Amino acid sequence: MTRASLPPVAVIGAGFSGTMAALQLLSTLPPERPVLLCERGGSFGRGLAYGTGNPAHLLNLRATNMSAFPDRPRNFEEWLGRLGPEEAEGIWATPAGTFAARGLFGRYLTELLSEAVTRSHAGRLQLLPDAVTDLEPRGDGFRLHTEGGQSFTVAGAVLAMGNLAAAPSRSRHSLDPWDTEHFGRLHPHAPVLILGTGLTMLDAVASLRAHGFAGAILALSRRGLVPNGHAPAKTWAAPDFTPAELASLPRLLTRIRTEVARAGARGIGWHGVIDALRPLTDTLWRSLPTPERRRFLRHLRPFWDVHRHRTAPPVDAAIRDEIASGGLTVRAGRLLDIADDPAQAVVTLRLRGAERTERLAVQAMIDATGFGHLAQSQDPLLRRLLERGLVRPEPFGLGLEAGPDYRARGTTAARPLWLLGPLLRGVLWECIAVPDIRNEAVELASLVAADLDRAAAA
Ligand SMILES: Cc1cc2nc3c(=O)[nH]c(=O)nc-3n(C[C@H](O)[C@H](O)[C@H](O)COP(=O)(O)OP(=O)(O)OC[C@H]3O[C@@H](n4cnc5c(N)ncnc54)[C@H](O)[C@@H]3O)c2cc1C
Repeated sequence: MTRASLPPVAVIGAGFSGTMAALQLLSTLPPERPVLLCERGGSFGRGLAYGTGNPAHLLNLRATNMSAFPDRPRNFEEWLGRLGPEEAEGIWATPAGTFAARGLFGRYLTELLSEAVTRSHAGRLQLLPDAVTDLEPRGDGFRLHTEGGQSFTVAGAVLAMGNLAAAPSRSRHSLDPWDTEHFGRLHPHAPVLILGTGLTMLDAVASLRAHGFAGAILALSRRGLVPNGHAPAKTWAAPDFTPAELASLPRLLTRIRTEVARAGARGIGWHGVIDALRPLTDTLWRSLPTPERRRFLRHLRPFWDVHRHRTAPPVDAAIRDEIASGGLTVRAGRLLDIADDPAQAVVTLRLRGAERTERLAVQAMIDATGFGHLAQSQDPLLRRLLERGLVRPEPFGLGLEAGPDYRARGTTAARPLWLLGPLLRGVLWECIAVPDIRNEAVELASLVAADLDRAAAA
């Protein structure tokens, strides 16, 4: 057995990104280098996405795409195959592929992590259930401080803290879509408004129904677009974009529409074309000039999201049933005002194309508009790192600036600080889904190992 003796590398956040970073670092760093995995939420491995116990919350990717390891692509499917018949409720075989409950995926991740803890020699993988509040530069590394008053010397840190939290709501009747325990206290029939019509809205509808809410739900977003469902898709070859297309959003869009039309003429739906773009989207994002990327975020992102981030067929069917039965109404429009009464909120809306505004009394509003921007973030660790100049925002405010080596870029001299997951959103477009994060974790681990080796040799 090897004794761990060097200062650890800290991984901050133990959702999918942090868990993958920790597992890959364990297999890539020398055996005497421990890994300190820090999680403020108490539960390691699941993160925000896979902590749900609602069997109606399904993965939005086929089980075939959800292995935690790029070199073992069937690992999750095989794990599912070993489950007993009592888990059948969480596994859906559909013509478009097999989709599992997100809670099952969370269990798969926690099992991978506990196996790693058991295997880790001399406690090389240490789990720290505490919020990290500061990384103070010390020597070549940091002194890591936690909310619980602990501190540790670490050789470097990987920030895997997930999406930025949304800005706090203006209304006392606003509910967090992830904190569903309040849903059971709602009046079962008084109307509820959901702000946002994307994947979080679909989750919120399933959570409301699971908590016995039987009333009307209005979902509102700027464009009123609901995610598409997965369908059996034939493959389409990745387009070879010209330099002119790569430099201009309108040209790029025209080319993609042409590809969709050509595919359609051969009986292949748009799904095949969008899937063909997936390996190219990072390159497309990085090649577009900054003003074009801003235009994409302002005008096209909702359209892209509903085609790219598709839902499992059972979720799609449930939402279409909701719409058909009148339980859920989806509208395009804007929320103009909220007036809070003690028992309800009176919201003023302007629906798209309408001249007049409408007022509506709702018992609650669920904020499913997505995640926040860096400028609004109150996260104590991020604020501290920004103040210290260890990190800086990337131009779109979606996350932090980083180099191609995942090293955070700040305003002061570079430090051993790396990013993984949604904080990379403005730099790497594809950094939020499992197939991307698992590959990026492998790459990150070897870059961290090489950086630490170089620092030790200097
Ligand atoms: C509802 C939902 C469903 C999704 N479904 C899918 C899917 O089916 N397939 C797919 O490929 N992708 C899916 N995604 C995308 C998802 O973003 C990734 O799969 C992945 O879960 C991102 O994990 P993460 O670890 O980066 O972030 P998170 O899961 O948010 O984890 C970050 C963790 O960091 C912790 N943390 C933050 N700050 C600190 C701190 N200062 N100290 C200590 N701990 C801290 C948080 O408590 C949290 O547990 C889904 C996303 C969401 C939100």
